[in-house]
Amino acid sequence: MKFGGTSMAGTERIRRVANLVRRQAANGDEVAVVVSAMAGETDRLVNFCREANALYDPAEYDVVVASGEQVTAGLLALTLQSLGCKARSWLGWQLPVHTVSAHAKARIEDIENDALLESLKSGTIAVIPGFQGVSSEGRISTLGRGGSDTSAVAVAAAIDADRCDIYTDVDGVYTTDPRIVARARKQKAVTYEEMLELASVGAKVLQTRSVGLAMKEGVRVQVLSSFVDDDATPADDLPGTMIVSEEEMERILEESDMERQLVTGIAHDKNEAKVILTRVPDKPGAVAHIFEPLAEASINVDMIIQNVGRDKGETDVTFTVPQADLARAQALLDDKRDEIGFNRIITDSHISKISVVGVGMKSHAGVASTMFRALSERGINIQAISTSEIKVSVMIDEDETELAVRVLHTAYGLDAED
Ligand code: ADP
Ligand code: ASP
Ligand code: MG
Repeated sequence: MKFGGTSMAGTERIRRVANLVRRQAANGDEVAVVVSAMAGETDRLVNFCREANALYDPAEYDVVVASGEQVTAGLLALTLQSLGCKARSWLGWQLPVHTVSAHAKARIEDIENDALLESLKSGTIAVIPGFQGVSSEGRISTLGRGGSDTSAVAVAAAIDADRCDIYTDVDGVYTTDPRIVARARKQKAVTYEEMLELASVGAKVLQTRSVGLAMKEGVRVQVLSSFVDDDATPADDLPGTMIVSEEEMERILEESDMERQLVTGIAHDKNEAKVILTRVPDKPGAVAHIFEPLAEASINVDMIIQNVGRDKGETDVTFTVPQADLARAQALLDDKRDEIGFNRIITDSHISKISVVGVGMKSHAGVASTMFRALSERGINIQAISTSEIKVSVMIDEDETELAVRVLHTAYGLDAED
């Protein structure tokens, strides 16, 4: 069972969580719980780091930001004990959760499970702070924002759990963020592939890496709400959204006599920034010169357009990078100006990316054109486009994000009926 920040925000909510855990354990299950820091806490801790030292050392940043989960893990263990349950906390270094040494964005390599399995067998509920591990150098490490989801899936894989229930503040994965579109519909199931794509283009209900790991390890994941009454449907009856393999999806569709939607979901991402390099030489190797330094600096480039060559063998190159990396990207490119040979660098953070995702696209044409038509009818200008086998993304003005999501939700027939 994994509980996110909103579910863990304060004594009262932790008591609700403890009750859910107690009931699951009373069912006869051995239960491992992964928790997030209280909502807002990690942001607060990140700010302290920035104030202390703008160019902070990521290893010390990890020491600070991992503390939020340590507090909630201890508090949940205490609350469970107050309800008469046997419970103990296991910090990242105690299990241990081994990660690579990349601080602030570490990857889990493996989790030692002997002591944990032993303790679970003795009927003790394990409470594990999410988001943290221990690096190969023996220092505390964190997994990147939203990383408790990944901790939960990794723990589930390590103990060969029947299921990984991700409890959050919505009762499942919807066709789009239900906070933006009131008529968004809850899905019974979503495939790993679709969820991976949705998460990677901004549906932050699950961290992207957690979905990739679940897919690789075959962990059954359910997304469901922790804000439920005592008489609500138990998690074992799968009231949330299941993340499933393609085969299981086919079965679910057949059993429920449902047709597969062309589009499964719509996501948006306001955290990217656009970079334009003007008058780049239109010759072999030019693009490699641009993207190699960015790759070396671990800056992820997403949409890329090389505009039609102008006269004199020159072209403009447009691409997006995460907003958080924009200043670094700009500095790196400025440094390489002579080597790359561009004229000007133009940047814009006031953009957003809207994506429609669905496995049905593999076999159906027309998904992209529906998108372009619907946006144009509302006067929304498209600045760039990128596609994958199961996704179409467009870049638009950030102010039009919510409108675009609503318009597309209707255009693909996803709105819930009254
Ligand atoms: P937690 O703190 O539990 O990890 P998050 O805030 O990380 O919770 O993720 C839950 C939020 O994800 C929801 O409150 C919702 O606004 C947002 N969200 C975005 N896209 C979707 C979607 N397609 N379905 C459900 N929730 C979504
Ligand atoms: N507390 C961490 C964050 O806010 C990890 C998580 O909640 O998943 O990013
Ligand atoms: Mg989250």
